[in-house]
Amino acid sequence: MTDRMAGKIALITGGAQGLGEATARMLMREGAWVAVTDVNADGVRKVADSLNAIRPGSAIALSHDVTREEDWHRVVGEVERVFGGLHVLVNNAGVSLAKNVEEVTLEEWRRVHAIDLDGVFLGCKISIPLIERTVKAGGPGGSIVNISSISGIIAGHNMAAYNSAKAAVRHLSKSVALHCARKGQGIRSNSIHPVFVATPILDHHVQRFGKEEAYAKLGRQVPLGRIAEPDDIAYAVLYLASDESKFVTGAELKVDGGISAM
Ligand code: NAD
Repeated sequence: MTDRMAGKIALITGGAQGLGEATARMLMREGAWVAVTDVNADGVRKVADSLNAIRPGSAIALSHDVTREEDWHRVVGEVERVFGGLHVLVNNAGVSLAKNVEEVTLEEWRRVHAIDLDGVFLGCKISIPLIERTVKAGGPGGSIVNISSISGIIAGHNMAAYNSAKAAVRHLSKSVALHCARKGQGIRSNSIHPVFVATPILDHHVQRFGKEEAYAKLGRQVPLGRIAEPDDIAYAVLYLASDESKFVTGAELKVDGGISAM
């Protein structure tokens, strides 16, 4: 532990498993207090318990549907009540859908956009006032990290709704960055664009081919020859969340093993 997040309070959505869990663990190890939220209330409680076993008092778990405005108000209020403020918001909760434009139903399209895009919009909108108050009170700076995807930059024939929502997150992050810069709030906003990461979101591939073959197949598409480990992405979140990136805003950080260089 090097205390890269010392004194910071972070809220991570979709933290019951996968990338959100790895991120919460990484930020906690680096000294942050973390609020881990998810629709999977049991899952997120287990994650918070395991963090508190390492550093007592470092984590709270909150049940949270990112598509619901009232949930956001409750969660942000609870973070302020327990930890006294907020410096870092990691909009990580997300779902994927492998369907082309003709297959996807309007209901599925709306669900993917509700979670992957509306959830990020609500998170930024409702958290910014608390981050602003926290930063104004002194101490470290504020940072919003939105987990988009390389699918927000490179389209796939069968990812219509996911491509659309993740591309919108990329641009929304820049709009938020410019808004915050203009207000001089000391809050930055950036997006991260991972390629395939070994998390349960890839379960449909795993069910089809078995874990080893599924990961190998996906890895063959990546110049570095493998899919990402959750910590490969969590390190990028750590950089953008910490004050080491204090002059970085409106940026898109591709953590993609080189796929977008092709
Ligand atoms: P995951 O499925 O393992 O975890 C996603 C988490 O989000 C789950 O715990 C789930 O319960 C939660 N969630 C779903 N709907 C929610 C809602 N309405 N409100 C709150 N929480 C909700 O997936 P992951 O791979 O850890 O994905 C994390 C993020 O990374 C997502 O935004 C995803 O699109 C993005 N991403 C993942 C990959 C990958 O290959 N794993 C690649 C690029 C981007």
